[in-house]
Amino acid sequence: MSIPRTDSPREAPARDFIRDISAEDLQTGKHGGRVLTRFPPEPNGYLHIGHAKSICLNFGVALEHRGHCNLRFDDTNPTTEDLEYVESIMADVKWLGFDWGKGLYYASDYFDQMYDYAVHLIGTGKAYVDSLTADEIRQHRGTLTEPGRESPYRGRSIEENLDLFARMRAGEFEDGTHVLRAKIDMASPNLNLRDPVLYRIRRATHYRTGDRWCVYPMYDYAHPISDAIEGITHSLCTLEFEDHRPFYDWVLDNLPVPSHPQQIEFARLNLSYTVMSKRKLLELVEGKHVDGWDDPRLPTLSGMRRRGYTSVAIRAFCERIGVAKRENVIDVAALEHAVREDLNQHAPRVMGVLRPLRVVIENYPDGQVEEVDVINNPEDPSAGTRKVPFSRVLYIERDDFREDPPKKFYRLAPGREVRLRCAYFILCTGVVKDPATGEIVELRCTYDPATRGGDSPDGRRVKATLHWVSAAHARSADVRLYDRLFSVENPGESENYLNLLNPHSLEILQSCKVEPALATAAPGYHCQFERIGYFCVDKDSRPGHLIFNRTVGLRDAWAKIEEKLKT
Ligand code: ATP
Ligand code: MG
Repeated sequence: MSIPRTDSPREAPARDFIRDISAEDLQTGKHGGRVLTRFPPEPNGYLHIGHAKSICLNFGVALEHRGHCNLRFDDTNPTTEDLEYVESIMADVKWLGFDWGKGLYYASDYFDQMYDYAVHLIGTGKAYVDSLTADEIRQHRGTLTEPGRESPYRGRSIEENLDLFARMRAGEFEDGTHVLRAKIDMASPNLNLRDPVLYRIRRATHYRTGDRWCVYPMYDYAHPISDAIEGITHSLCTLEFEDHRPFYDWVLDNLPVPSHPQQIEFARLNLSYTVMSKRKLLELVEGKHVDGWDDPRLPTLSGMRRRGYTSVAIRAFCERIGVAKRENVIDVAALEHAVREDLNQHAPRVMGVLRPLRVVIENYPDGQVEEVDVINNPEDPSAGTRKVPFSRVLYIERDDFREDPPKKFYRLAPGREVRLRCAYFILCTGVVKDPATGEIVELRCTYDPATRGGDSPDGRRVKATLHWVSAAHARSADVRLYDRLFSVENPGESENYLNLLNPHSLEILQSCKVEPALATAAPGYHCQFERIGYFCVDKDSRPGHLIFNRTVGLRDAWAKIEEKLKT
């Protein structure tokens, strides 16, 4: 019962400075008239919506230029990486609608080549083994205003360096006793060029290479080499790597690599009311502040999928925010808007009552059941209609009744008539209360048989149309109402972000009543509960125990903001 769609991943692509560069490079024949990009996640966490921006960009640019995009796991740090992450990343990229084909790579597959290249750098006098401690190296590094100082080991001979590096690899030294550094310029105004570390000793079991290595390359060294080995043409990364580009080029200029990719930086996606650092996401998961990596409140793709966000909506959102050089924070309402837009077109409408109030229609024959025709999706005539059972005892939403209606409350009240969607007009004739608590437990109503289908032949008007479910036919369901995980717009700015969690980010309603057609709705099924919002069947839902996650409410704050911006 999920939405069957095969939309191609891209609509009309927007222009941006990266697409301009790659189009021009194709024209001038730079990179041999090819476009080959890559998406290079480190398998140390689940992908989030920021990664989706990078995925849409890398795969999008490639597809538009008849090129290709590789999926490469940047797995050079054994202590944080895991196969679970590799598998989740592959599943998420596929779910987003992209296909890396044969282009699946692992930086760890290049460890031998990277090692040989390091030996090459030593052989040309461009790298040396340093035996300062990590602290001493930091102290020698200088600052933005002061030059660094050269290590006393910087002058080691090529032979000595080759010997020490081989012994580092052979496991003769303790972790942290030696590193291999590039020999560039300790006075460079760019701190990344002050003899950056290329290799460190780390006795840790790698999830792919096991215990084969005890020296591991640093990211800034491994990344350009991986790009060059694969023949990447445009290496797209986020802005914080702009200052690393001179070193990226230095590595490629000083090694006999097969190609020289071009690194281009773009602004990362920041989203309001959430955090996107993998370290923080991991903390939220491990601290059990959320229900795993796919908690529907997280900005992870698996969380968004579980919540009911569609890949089409996420791609449309990434398309719309575009790609630029300046950092900014996107209002999460813009993402919710994209989700509503997609679900509005495709999600079937159903009736579900979240906080049920019993209604007895006194003049409706006991035991009689009628099936009324209800439209499945007003946006999509091909979705047709369905039969919904109507009977003497129904549930309506508690919020849709007021004993003492305030001004502008047009829904049901004593003595007032309203329409039940696609069924009849009903008139409230009485209120039954719990004698002990005074709580309203039931409404007594009458219906007008002449209004079947929802219109009165005498032209009588009502001001409200309510959704409803027949009590005898209703299925009970748990409904999880998700709200923003954080109560402030910019939680990531604070190290105390755990104190900023929204205590009301999840409300679980039990014994909600949904129409019987939903009895067999499978996990992942999207629908709109009329007048309430979009919902998605949770992965833990079972036929006898239905669970719906609220994807997003119907009210569109973003449409209002846009409207305001226009005027
Ligand atoms: P960390 O959270 O530790 O900074 P990361 O987000 O950089 O890690 P990676 O796995 O290295 O995690 O990211 C893979 C790719 O996704 C990189 O090319 C990175 O630039 C890109 N990326 C990560 N976060 C964002 C973001 N918020 N917006 C756009 N691209 C992103
Ligand atoms: Mg990274």
